[in-house]
Amino acid sequence: MTDINGKTTVCGIIGNPVEHSLSPVMHNAAFRQTGLNWVYVPFRPAIGAVETTVAGIRGLGIAGVNVTVPFKEVVIPFMDDLTDEAVCCGAVNTIINRGGKLTGHNTDGSGFIRDLREEYGFDPSRGPALVWGAGGSARAVVVSLLRAGCNELALVNRGRERALDLARAVYQTTGATVRVFPWVAQDDGLVDFTRRAKLLVNCTSVGLSGQAGEGFPLPDELSGPSQMVYDLIYNPPRTPLLTRAEKSGAVIANGLGMLLHQGALSFEAWTGRRAPLETMRRALGK
Ligand code: NDP
Repeated sequence: MTDINGKTTVCGIIGNPVEHSLSPVMHNAAFRQTGLNWVYVPFRPAIGAVETTVAGIRGLGIAGVNVTVPFKEVVIPFMDDLTDEAVCCGAVNTIINRGGKLTGHNTDGSGFIRDLREEYGFDPSRGPALVWGAGGSARAVVVSLLRAGCNELALVNRGRERALDLARAVYQTTGATVRVFPWVAQDDGLVDFTRRAKLLVNCTSVGLSGQAGEGFPLPDELSGPSQMVYDLIYNPPRTPLLTRAEKSGAVIANGLGMLLHQGALSFEAWTGRRAPLETMRRALGK
C-alpha cells in the first residue's frame, strides 16, 4: 500500500458484503504504479445506512467510491448529478466527488464493451445477443450492447415479470425493443434465438461458487465457434456454463475483464489519468 500521510487522497468501495471485492487490490496497485498519493479502502456500511454513507463521502472529502450490491440503485436519490450511463442503467457503480458535488456514474456497461472489443476483438454489431438475467448487471449489459450497435437483443430471466419490466425500461430510455423468452430450455423461440445469437451473456448469479444452476435454459447444442459466451461471474473462473460452451467450440470469457475495465474507467474518472491497465490486470491475477 502507498505510504499514507497528511496529503493522501482517499477513495474506496461501498458494499455489503465487501470482503470478497478485488477492487482494493487492483486500485492500490494502480496508485502505486502511477505514483499517486491515493489510497483505496473497502467500506461496509449497514444496509439501511445509505443516506449517512453518502453524507460521509461529502463530509470527509472522499474523492470517489465504487458502489456495489446492495447500494447501486439506492444511492441515486442522494446524487447531485447523474451521467447518461447511470440514468440508462438505473444504477450507479462509481461516485465522483468534486468539491462536495457528487456525480453518479456507471462504468459496468462500458467496461463490458471494452473487454469484448479490446480483449476479444468482438464487435457488438456483429449479430443477435442473448442475455440471461434481469438484475442490475443485465440492465447495464443490455443498454451498453444497444449503444454499441447490437440491433437484435433478447432477454431470459427466471422471474419473467422482471425481464418484461427491464425490456419496458430499456424501451423507455433507448427506444429499442428487446424480446423476452420464458426460462425454459426447450422453448422454440429461445432455441432458435440461442442458435442464431453471436453473443450469449450470463448476467445471473447462477454458476457462482456454491450456487447450483439447475434448469438453466441453455439448449443442448450451441452453434459453435461463431459464438461468444460471456459469463459475468469470475469466481469460479470457469462456470458450468463456460465449460459447456467451450465443449461446443464457442469463444468463452469470464467477468474478470469486465471488472478490470470498469475499474480502469473509474480510475480515469477520479484521477483524470490514464489507468495502468497491465498493472491492474496483474493485480487481479488475470
Ligand atoms: P442482481 O441481484 O441484480 O440480479 C441477480 C440475477 O440473477 C437476477 O436475474 C436473478 O433472477 C438471477 N438469479 C439469482 N439466483 C438465481 C437462480 N438460482 N436461478 C436463476 N436465476 C437466478 O445481481 P447483479 O445483476 O448485480 O449481478 C449478477 C451477477 O453478475 C453476479 O454473479 C455478479 O457477481 C456478477 N457481476 C459481475 C460484474 C463484473 O464486473 N464481472 C459486475 C456486476 C455483476 P430473478 O430475477 O428471477 O431473481
